[in-house]
Amino acid sequence: MIAGRDEHRDRASQSPRSPQWFGFCPRPLPGESLLSWIDQVSATFGFTRDDAAELVGISRRWGDRLSRDLYMLSRDDLPHLMFRTGLGELDLRMMTAEWLVMGPWAGCLRGRYYGIQGFDMMSSAACPDCVAESDGRWQLLWKSGFNVLCAKHRCYLASVCVCGRRLHRVDRGEISRFRCVGITAGQSRGFGPCDQKVADLPVARVEDPRVVQAHAQVFGLITSRKQRTDQQNERVWSDLAWAIHLTAELGTAELVEGTDPCVAEAFDRFCHRRESTRTRHGDVNARLKADEQDERLVMAAFLRVATALALSDDQGAQAMWFCDTVSPQWKSAPQVFIHLDPKGGLPQVFRALGMPNRPWR
Ligand SMILES: [Zn+2]
Ligand SMILES: [Zn+2]
Repeated sequence: MIAGRDEHRDRASQSPRSPQWFGFCPRPLPGESLLSWIDQVSATFGFTRDDAAELVGISRRWGDRLSRDLYMLSRDDLPHLMFRTGLGELDLRMMTAEWLVMGPWAGCLRGRYYGIQGFDMMSSAACPDCVAESDGRWQLLWKSGFNVLCAKHRCYLASVCVCGRRLHRVDRGEISRFRCVGITAGQSRGFGPCDQKVADLPVARVEDPRVVQAHAQVFGLITSRKQRTDQQNERVWSDLAWAIHLTAELGTAELVEGTDPCVAEAFDRFCHRRESTRTRHGDVNARLKADEQDERLVMAAFLRVATALALSDDQGAQAMWFCDTVSPQWKSAPQVFIHLDPKGGLPQVFRALGMPNRPWR
């Protein structure tokens, strides 16, 4: 690191902006996405996003591709970013989505329900209180479709504005971190201009401790830096993915009895839509489509059931409870299995129940 400092200083002095400004840069917050931080730098100095990116050590001019491609840091940029942020390589990589899409949960990323939706170019969810408190900083993990709530503020995340648009769908840099920026030419006809503040978006309180626990379990797995073998991790995530699929395909309102009303209602709407569109050879993903408004709430229901099935200490009892609860739906299970075509056979949880490993054969 020391050996390279002169080189970094040279590089800084070649920047179009004065390097001493860098000392006044806002520091990245824990969990903040890299692009959110670059937007903060850009707002602090009144630079364009491209200039701010260059100031903090991103070597190439990405233009409008910056937000789309910034999920992965290049080897060339890393040392410059480390020098200018004072952060280590791991901390910097945790500000981009690379580690999220490369993790052992990668197999769970199928479709729109099972993981990362996109990066900063794409829509996100947000905690209005966190946005207000941090002065417009956005968390990287809000991008994950698994992320349904803010544990600090005990609220569900908002993923859609009151006008019906997804949050941050139109990325106008810093300004779209504070408010819904409405329409731009060629996008989403039918919505009028909108200036709704993200900090004022209505969100439901999280009261159900089982949702909190499910969320903590899943994010404990995602963010844990503990050493686990890949095989162990893959097993856990494949079981979770299985449990989510089965909940999505066969679940009924009884599975989430006693949960928060907003979650129960969203899951109920989801189940109704699934049944009204169920066809014998229908496309699974099309059937799983939820209202945009409901997406994270439906995921909260999925996680509540799936963690009970896949991560419980008493998997046999949980599997029994699941099968009993969804028994009217169970007749369509073999069809579900064919759709999923699981290479490793049934998840552990159902084998604990004594089901044949490949009941669809
Ligand atoms: Zn929050
Ligand atoms: Zn709006």
